[in-house]
Amino acid sequence: MNNYKSGFVTLLGRPNVGKSTLINKLVGKKITITSPIAQTTRNKLKGILTNDDNQIIFIDTPGVHKPHHLLGEKLVKNAKSAINGVDLILLIFDSCQKPGKGDAYIRNLLMNNKSKFIVVLNKWDLVEKKDRYERINQYKELFNDNLVSLQEVSALSGYGCNELIKEIRTALPTGKPLYPKDMIVDQPINVILSELIREQVLLNTREEIPHSVAVKIEKIEYIKKKGKEITAILATVIVERKSQKGILIGKGGSMLKAIGQSSRMNIKNLFEGTIYLELFVKVIPNWRKKESRLIEFGYEDDF
Ligand code: GDP
Ligand code: MG
Repeated sequence: MNNYKSGFVTLLGRPNVGKSTLINKLVGKKITITSPIAQTTRNKLKGILTNDDNQIIFIDTPGVHKPHHLLGEKLVKNAKSAINGVDLILLIFDSCQKPGKGDAYIRNLLMNNKSKFIVVLNKWDLVEKKDRYERINQYKELFNDNLVSLQEVSALSGYGCNELIKEIRTALPTGKPLYPKDMIVDQPINVILSELIREQVLLNTREEIPHSVAVKIEKIEYIKKKGKEITAILATVIVERKSQKGILIGKGGSMLKAIGQSSRMNIKNLFEGTIYLELFVKVIPNWRKKESRLIEFGYEDDF
């Protein structure tokens, strides 16, 4: 335990650069919501990686609400609050693109505050071989060669992730584990489950169903049948209009079935044994305008 290290690491970056995917990969479980549609992370989730040498607590910053407002106020606000009180910041970039004008903003913020940070070039799998050398140099230039550390990774394939964990460990202070060793998320399981189901609703319905969907976990039951573990989950998908309910259910229930099946696949990774998942759809007009509903569906912090 002498050289045990532990600390908080915030992931910071524009929407869609792969922050949530990277946390999932680093922690080794599917715990946060990822999606090709930007801004789906509503709650601040922590993912915890514990092993014999260190405990790293990753903090996923919620997305910026307006997709075009890329480096707007909210991201800067996130950056400012991320700087306070964490041990290290991972500044995540989509390395398909060279650094843009706005990126200098965040760089200055971090450098002026003397925050410890690692630059992570994610989606390295998508950068063509011939462009790779140049791309690294472009990011080094952004930091005027003042960089402590830069790591290329692919959150999808896991490329570079072990190296990144080593870099993180180096930067963390010596200390005891801060959370129980078997804990991988600090959110209640209800929140995780509803986020996983909501993710599948968004993925399966695309633009037809806007972000007016909430998922409420009604019941979780742990059953033991003939020595086998079964987790039975009952959830309601809430929409605002009747027409949305129709889309969600689909022809002969086909859409709801597809959503249920893919949700179950993801939920399976979190539990031992078999998962039963039953989904219902309910219309609550204007639920987003009702504060009591927001609290009921777990969004009290974010609207
Ligand atoms: P976030 O908004 O920063 O949390 O981004 P997400 O983790 O939700 O990822 C956004 C999209 O990028 C998803 O479709 C991911 O599958 C995809 N993605 C994330 N990391 C990688 C990567 O390393 N390579 C590729 N090809 N796609 C990635
Ligand atoms: Mg995210």
